[in-house]
Amino acid sequence: MTKFMKKYAQFMTGRYGVDDLFYFLMALVLITGLFPAFILKNGLSLVRWIIFAFGLFRYFSKNIQARQKENMWFMKWFRPIKKELKFRFTRIRYIKTYRYRRCPHCHQQLRLPINKGKHTVVCPSCNKEFNVNILF
Ligand SMILES: [Zn+2]
Repeated sequence: MTKFMKKYAQFMTGRYGVDDLFYFLMALVLITGLFPAFILKNGLSLVRWIIFAFGLFRYFSKNIQARQKENMWFMKWFRPIKKELKFRFTRIRYIKTYRYRRCPHCHQQLRLPINKGKHTVVCPSCNKEFNVNILF
């Protein structure tokens, strides 16, 4: 460990660090930074700085309980969005090998091998049968 890393580790002891809210705030700052300057007028640029400063404040904060509370509040509404995004990326990732269908009875997502045509599928979650049509 270099001298700098030791100093940094010492400095960060007892501080909050990163969590999902931190990543979200920093992503927000970076993504809004991609917008051309004429869309982001001075007001929005200031908002970006405030978001960035809040992210850093949380990162270096020693009030861990309060930061965890903030993150829990954030995750309450962000978790379903994160889950859906993750599922959509998985769907695209395995587009060559699987098709995804939702069970009409229990709404469970099912991953099916690509067997073109009409099939009867038994849902492993509720054990009910339903028909699927895989076109391609
Ligand atoms: Zn089902």
